[in-house]
Amino acid sequence: MSLIGLVRLIRTTGRVAEPAPPRPDPAPGRPAALAGSVQVRHVDAGSCNGCEVEVAAAFGPVYDAERYGARLVASPRHADVVLVTGVVTHNMAEPLRRTVDATPRPRMVVAVGDCARDCGAFAGAHGVAGAVHDVVDVDLEVRGCPPEPDAIVAALRQVTGR
Ligand code: SF4
Repeated sequence: MSLIGLVRLIRTTGRVAEPAPPRPDPAPGRPAALAGSVQVRHVDAGSCNGCEVEVAAAFGPVYDAERYGARLVASPRHADVVLVTGVVTHNMAEPLRRTVDATPRPRMVVAVGDCARDCGAFAGAHGVAGAVHDVVDVDLEVRGCPPEPDAIVAALRQVTGR
């Protein structure tokens, strides 16, 4: 197809995405400064990688968390939200504390998955320091083992309000 044909196709096709769902209520305690868009630093504190697959899907082209204003970033210095998956292993307790400390305020910590919430299937296991709330303050939790991408996107939408 020629370039002109491609431009014509783009102009005549219009928007093909599904309409956005209604805006959600903000999460309790969500700082107003985080409304609209947030940068998200993901920390795997000791997961089985199941939650990582779902987080990747949440930010992929189908579930598209960016559409609602949530974007992954590589550094906690650039982040508004720390999204934590997995139990917290002894080796990851201090790095998790430092990551959250390095994130500027106002910030939110979101614990994703049953392991992050309450140690899930790994409760009492060797090497487990605890759930995420045992190590850092948690603002929002997402249930599931693993949670579906929809649930992860829904939690992030409660932060952005979009
Ligand atoms: S909640 Fe389930 S999928 Fe997620 S890290 Fe734990 S065991 Fe793995």
